[in-house]
Amino acid sequence: MKRKPFIALLIATSLSVGLPAAHAKETPAPPPQAQQAFDNKIIKKINVESIYNDISHLSSEPRVAGTEAEWNAVQYIESKFSSFGYETEIQPFTFESYQAPKVSVTIAGDTLSSNSFTYTQNGKVSGDVVYAGLATEADLSGIELVGKIALVKRGDISFADKVLNAARAGASAVIIYNNTSGSLSGTLGAPNDEFVPAVSLTQADGERLTSSLAEGQAISATVKVTDGAILQKTSHNVVAIKEPTNKKKGTNQIIVVGAHHDSVPGSPGANDDASGVATSIELARVMANMPTDTEIRFVTFGAEEIGLLGSYAYVETLSQDERDRIVGMFQMDMVGSRDAGELVMFTVDGEKNAVTDLSAAAGVRTGTPLSYGKEGRSDHVPFYYAGIPAALFIHTPTEPWYHTPNDSLDKISKEKLQETAEIVGAAVYQVARPDTPSLERSRVSPKPVEYEKVIGGLQ
Ligand SMILES: [Zn+2]
Repeated sequence: MKRKPFIALLIATSLSVGLPAAHAKETPAPPPQAQQAFDNKIIKKINVESIYNDISHLSSEPRVAGTEAEWNAVQYIESKFSSFGYETEIQPFTFESYQAPKVSVTIAGDTLSSNSFTYTQNGKVSGDVVYAGLATEADLSGIELVGKIALVKRGDISFADKVLNAARAGASAVIIYNNTSGSLSGTLGAPNDEFVPAVSLTQADGERLTSSLAEGQAISATVKVTDGAILQKTSHNVVAIKEPTNKKKGTNQIIVVGAHHDSVPGSPGANDDASGVATSIELARVMANMPTDTEIRFVTFGAEEIGLLGSYAYVETLSQDERDRIVGMFQMDMVGSRDAGELVMFTVDGEKNAVTDLSAAAGVRTGTPLSYGKEGRSDHVPFYYAGIPAALFIHTPTEPWYHTPNDSLDKISKEKLQETAEIVGAAVYQVARPDTPSLERSRVSPKPVEYEKVIGGLQ
């Protein structure tokens, strides 16, 4: 995706967060470099080598939700935050995870190539094989299936309906064969006690059995499904809190800076999302001893990849009062790939908000104009649904190695990390720094900018 030319314009309104009302007298725009004087307190302290080293540590293994590797990452992140003097919390939450069974189909001593269906029953069944068409109710009327193994063709109705129809007709197991080349695996959608053991065969094997049966040959088979299970697993969020320096003079507002520490199986997740986690850690280090009047929460989420579970769990713990006080949530997800495009801010509804306004202004000051667009798919989503201004920061188009074993440290760009850390750091600091009126009135105070919408979402 190519960005259109960027035009920075001054507008006369003030930003909606952490800033006093509009300036009494508008002065001509100072150049971005002059405005950047504000940001240097943050920018000059960012050490991109620290970010890179944390990515290196975190991406030494995949960090799949609920595994020991994810827990190792959680402990590492927590130890970093506490080493900067933060109050931290490791927040556990549980989720269900399906463990696929081992399956086999044996006919006359031959074991055929077979796969399982998610949520199948376990069991070992031997019996005669009966052809049952597509296993629609119409197909099954008049077929004697009690105690038999139903041989069913893929198509027309769902796998679950095929298994249920055959089970209700008395079948003790179901073999579904493919209607195209290649192996077949699928899901029955949800657990159901009415299911019987269900396995798949290739189209070639299925058609061979079907024609043997059509010729009147008797076939008996053994279907084995073992160790399928729904497991309870635990994942964790890490929360580090920086209270306002002087509580009595605090604004009562909260800013959340987030990223997710889990990865997909088989992927070191250097960019997705060790990059966002490591950048959050570095911003926490930079801000640790800085005077601020706004509470800042650095939160890294578990189990993002399997449905934003950590961020939903976190948002659920927030009281309505806390939700009302959170003025912005900055989610950094995939912010360091040398092979991805430009930094874009995505909101769930595709509208600008306080987070995108602050960050677009910071982008102009730091020399990286930003655009925004509409996309969910990361931990900003639960915050949005809780009524909190939130945005995802991600380079788009994403790199081709996203979610592959090649999402590794060697593809990480220090320039991209630096750019993201500067923008998010400067935007957060604009709200969090003590609101000194004399600075606000000064010629170099941060000014709102206009910025463009990208159409088409994350690519
Ligand atoms: Zn991610």
